[in-house]
Amino acid sequence: MSPSRTIPFFNYPALFEPREEEFMSVIRDVCRRGAYILQRDLEAFEDNLRRFLNVRYAFGVADGTNALVLGLRAMGIGPGDEVIVPSHTYIASAASVHLVGATPVLCDIGPDNLIDPASAEAMITDRTRAIMPVHVNGRTCDMAALGVVADRHGLPLVEDAAQALGSEFRGRRAGTFGTFGTFSFYPAKVLGCFGDGGAVVTDDDEIGARLALLRDHGRNDAGKVVAWGTNCRLDNLQAAILDLKFRTYDQDIARRREIARRYHAALADLPQLDLPPGPDAGGDHFDIYQNYELAADRRDELRAYLKDRGVGTIIQWGGSPVHSFAELGFDQTLPATERFFERCLMLPMNMSLGDDDVAYICDQVRAFYARSA
Ligand SMILES: *Cc1c(COP(=O)(O)O)cnc(C)c1O
Repeated sequence: MSPSRTIPFFNYPALFEPREEEFMSVIRDVCRRGAYILQRDLEAFEDNLRRFLNVRYAFGVADGTNALVLGLRAMGIGPGDEVIVPSHTYIASAASVHLVGATPVLCDIGPDNLIDPASAEAMITDRTRAIMPVHVNGRTCDMAALGVVADRHGLPLVEDAAQALGSEFRGRRAGTFGTFGTFSFYPAKVLGCFGDGGAVVTDDDEIGARLALLRDHGRNDAGKVVAWGTNCRLDNLQAAILDLKFRTYDQDIARRREIARRYHAALADLPQLDLPPGPDAGGDHFDIYQNYELAADRRDELRAYLKDRGVGTIIQWGGSPVHSFAELGFDQTLPATERFFERCLMLPMNMSLGDDDVAYICDQVRAFYARSA
């Protein structure tokens, strides 16, 4: 059957088309200046990021994965150390721990489908050096409960906020609770560039100083090599594009929250679905909806039904939580994560969705359950 509409899960060309002229003038300006590496556009973007998050240091780096690697290295985490990471995350979170020579120790999720503070605490050993909450889908983890666990054991938190720029818990922004926080500007992220990009932020003077060296070959402001570093800089061109998009970031978040509001209004009464909290749920959270991830009965059938009707959906992380990767040496059972992965599904959530698209998607979901009730 040929669907009456086609709504891809994500529309990459649509990142560019609506503002093509603005983007082209930024690109022309940067290229005419020959301003490619560590130039003023990167500085301006880092300044704006710092102000937005209210942190002392922000560094644009190559991508969100390397942001984590640099943060861990700046803390001196390495061989013999363990870092606790939720299994419901992108492989990059755990890989960053492995890449610095330490061991990622995976824990379960709680009822909010984010890192479970009790499960994290149960994984602490005398080798644990940090706990890494991951603010999946643009919702901040319960940083109060995690803070209690961290304090009780004298451990730092380090935040993978790749999906959560602008998300808040009790009025404080994700990425600013821990010793460091990281962000990704992968194209499909809420603030995405035209390639790879990331940032690492901190309030800690020593960590900040180390990050500055680490991302640029260990060179200090005078250009002298004073430490082992690497090449991990955000391209100035990408920074210029990000800085342009950042100017209207609040509107982008508002639009995503409006889409979430519409999903919530149209689907909340279906007993077969568990929706994420709506944007008006109040409480401690302000969510930015990087993704709209729900849990659905007969998930795979629903997914096929939507696909036949032109609606693209995705199961997060290709359907595999980190602890399922046996080839990486994981051999563990995490019941809440496993239960969630039998039912989780992400509906389209992006800036190219119209209200009529959202209504169409909701109609199809309702029709699926009505038909087969
Ligand atoms: C996107 C993402 C990353 C990695 O970011 P890259 O910029 O693609 O390296 C890390 N963690 C999470 C939770 C992510 O969603």
